[in-house]
Amino acid sequence: MKLILLGAPGAGKGTVAKLLTKIDGSVQISTGDILRAAVAAGTELGKQAKAAMNAGELVSDDLIMGIMGERLKEDDCKNGYLLDGFPRTIPQAEALKVLLADMGETLDAVVNIDVERDVILDRLTTRRTCEDCGEIYNVKSKPPKEEGKCDKCGGAVVQRDDETETAISNRLDVYNEQTAPLAGFYEKEGMLLTVAATSSDSVINAIKERIGI
Ligand code: ADP
Ligand code: ZN
Repeated sequence: MKLILLGAPGAGKGTVAKLLTKIDGSVQISTGDILRAAVAAGTELGKQAKAAMNAGELVSDDLIMGIMGERLKEDDCKNGYLLDGFPRTIPQAEALKVLLADMGETLDAVVNIDVERDVILDRLTTRRTCEDCGEIYNVKSKPPKEEGKCDKCGGAVVQRDDETETAISNRLDVYNEQTAPLAGFYEKEGMLLTVAATSSDSVINAIKERIGI
């Protein structure tokens, strides 16, 4: 399947994407993960992205389209992909449309995962991430077995630099201003599926029903 997952930070795009990959071998492509890996590795891309990311601002459309233009042509995309955190602006959505048309590909749907702002704020301030493998924890609902240590790989489980309260509130504002309009964009294209984020299972079931699997 080929999907875009839309939704505010903390809506659960990553969790849903990971579950979907198990259904048919589609790959999860998270621009946030790609950028964080670049920052951690200290590459040129990472240097360019770091300041914007830490402030909760968006990285430039050109930088993102450069990354995604390459990424979508890789072999593992043949079985389908779940775009998590991309596109994030109307110019990115327009550029993606051109890119997909050039590649002769069409998306199955754009899934908009809908959650209220206070639920999100609570989720994000309590979220913790493994520095090494990216596994997501939550100090309230899913703490690592040993405090600060990843169950999967033993790496350090930390709060992301952009998950302080100020950066989170900024990310939500940026989302509302720059990304929320994508729902209207894809609605016009007839591709939008809006689902309430009650549980990841209910989101998955709504998607299965829509695309007929
Ligand atoms: P979130 O939890 O906010 O969905 P992500 O992991 O998707 O976070 O992204 C983290 C940060 O990486 C964003 O705040 C932004 O700075 C940058 N980023 C990720 N994807 C994009 C994109 N498509 N366009 C611009 N910036 C992006
Ligand atoms: Zn880990």
